[in-house]
Amino acid sequence: CGITGYIGDSDCSAIVAQSLKNLEYRGYDSAGVALLDDELHIHKQSGQIDDLTIPPMPDATCGIGHTRWSTHGAPTDANAHPHSDCTGQVAVVHNGIIDNYERFKRELREDHRFTSETDTEVIAHLIEDALDEGFSLRNAVENVVSMLEGSFAIAVTAVGFDGIIAARQDSPLVLGHGENENFLGSDVTAFVEYTQTVTFLEDGDLAHITADDVRITNGDTVVERDRQTVEWDADA
Ligand code: GLU
Repeated sequence: CGITGYIGDSDCSAIVAQSLKNLEYRGYDSAGVALLDDELHIHKQSGQIDDLTIPPMPDATCGIGHTRWSTHGAPTDANAHPHSDCTGQVAVVHNGIIDNYERFKRELREDHRFTSETDTEVIAHLIEDALDEGFSLRNAVENVVSMLEGSFAIAVTAVGFDGIIAARQDSPLVLGHGENENFLGSDVTAFVEYTQTVTFLEDGDLAHITADDVRITNGDTVVERDRQTVEWDADA
C-alpha cells in the first residue's frame, strides 16, 4: 500500500500512473487516482493496477494516487481511494488507520452521505465541513489532522486549489523536488526516476506542495527539513 502525488508541467496522468506501478511491490488490493484540471477526475477500483484505466489528461497539472491494503471495508471499488466529500470537490488518499473514525462517522452521518465503509472517508467529510466554515484547504487539513488518532500518511487536493496538502503521523511520507515539479510518495521508489532530491517528512509535518514551492509546517512552526540526494540506478 502506498500514496503518491505529482504537481508540475509534465504529463501528470502518466507520471501518477507510473508511480502507482512503482509502488506495486508494497502489496495492494485496490488502486486509484484523482487528477485535477478544472474539475476533479477520480478513477479507482479493486484489483490489479494494470486493469485501472487512467485516460490521458493533457490539461491535468496535479494528481494523487493510492494503492490500498484494506483495513476497514472490503476491497471493493467503492472502498478504493481516493475518497471524496459530498460536493465532489475534495480528494483524499490515506495510508494507515484512523482509530477514532467511528465517532466522526456517527456525527457526520446526519448531514453527509457516506459512499464507502472505510475509516478514511471521514477525513474528506471533515475537510468539507472545515471548508464550509471558511478555512483554506491548508488550514482545513491542519485542523482535521489534529483531531485524528491513529496512523496516517495523507494527500489531499481540491478543485480550484493550487497544490497538494500532505501530512503524516506514524506512516512514512517523502517529498521529491524537481524543476517546476514536485512529488510525494510513501517511499522514494514512487518517483525516484524523475528526481533524486528528496525530503523525508517527520511526524506531525504538514506540507503544501505546488509546482515551484514546498512549505512544511509542524504545528504553528514553519520547518526546514534537509534535502537529501538518493541514489538511483537507471539500469537496475
Ligand atoms: N484504512 C484505510 C482503508 O482501509 C487505508 C488502508 C491502506 O493503508 O491502504 O481503506
